[in-house]
Amino acid sequence: MEPGGELELARHHAVVTGGGRGIGAAIAESLAKLGASVSLISRNAEALEATASRIGENHGVKVAIAAADLTDQAAVQKAIPKVADALGPPTILVNNAGVAVSSPFLRSDTAFWRKLLDTDLMAAVYCTQAVLPAMLESNWGRIINIASTAGLSGYAYITAYCAAKHALIGLTRALAMETVRTGVTVNAVCPGYTETDMTTHSVENIMQKTHRTREEAISSLVSRNPQGRLIQPSEVADTVAWLSRDNAASITGQCIVVAGGELMP
Ligand code: NAP
Repeated sequence: MEPGGELELARHHAVVTGGGRGIGAAIAESLAKLGASVSLISRNAEALEATASRIGENHGVKVAIAAADLTDQAAVQKAIPKVADALGPPTILVNNAGVAVSSPFLRSDTAFWRKLLDTDLMAAVYCTQAVLPAMLESNWGRIINIASTAGLSGYAYITAYCAAKHALIGLTRALAMETVRTGVTVNAVCPGYTETDMTTHSVENIMQKTHRTREEAISSLVSRNPQGRLIQPSEVADTVAWLSRDNAASITGQCIVVAGGELMP
């Protein structure tokens, strides 16, 4: 709480891509808890509406939604102005929307590579291009890219996902330097396996391909984390909220790993 009783992010408008469910919904909730108005953008309008009304009711903040496929640059160029008209120019952008699909390298065709790179890298590029000019004009901004431990290390059977997330971290570091004296910070958050639909699909994929039970499949993922557990979406979300605060102004170009000690970059 700021002097005068105002919540710390009360004057801010945060855009969270993929904010209808999973980590994105938890991020939107954490930012709303600090008083930010939030916009949720992804393809599924029904999920966006349900999450938006829950956040609005729980936290009393304004919430806008825009349904868009973020791999389509023209759709991004409509969605960002739509939410900016509703809630003002975005001051915080969380590039969270993503897709993780595994495939052995020699069975991954060009369409597969394009889908992963378009969703996990280019969507963040398009959204950042759309919000950065107004951030630079106001001398304040937070761009937070949800990468992954797969952005910092290699894992078998996810070459395209690893390549896209490594590239997202490269984007983070280079843009952080390009904006270093502007009041805009650019950081990445790198979760390990987190309890969302994405991990449920990974578990089902392991069960199908290796004939293991659900428990065995979950424990093969959990065994990567020295704490022996899945990360909770709220843990990733609170890291994003911390990076969004005024007092995080000197943190830029960083990758914050939220993975129970799995990596120590
Ligand atoms: P999730 O439950 O599968 O949610 C993915 C989100 O991305 C959904 O909101 C989805 O919304 C959105 N999305 C996907 N493709 C999109 C597109 N083309 N256009 C617009 N929105 C799109 O996944 P999650 O676990 O919350 O993951 C969120 C982020 O964290 C991802 O970037 C992921 O790579 C990263 N991450 C996750 C884990 C994990 O273990 N779960 C670990 C490390 C990093 P719609 O379906 O409505 O479009």
